[in-house]
Amino acid sequence: MAEDKKGKKPHKNKPTSKKYAHYKISGDKLSKDRNCPRCGAGVFLAQHAGRLHCGKCGYTEFSKK
Ligand SMILES: [Zn+2]
Repeated sequence: MAEDKKGKKPHKNKPTSKKYAHYKISGDKLSKDRNCPRCGAGVFLAQHAGRLHCGKCGYTEFSKK
């Protein structure tokens, strides 16, 4: 049996999604970052200067002062 099959790509490590970084536990309470109103729970908005942006659907929310 041939071990080196053609068509198989070598496994490469991909950067994992850092969804865990959006969850913060303070004491007994679990606080989450803002979710996307279009995509729903589980899709977090990326925080930029003065705005929140969803990378999935493109939703942008401007934060007011
Ligand atoms: Zn979205």
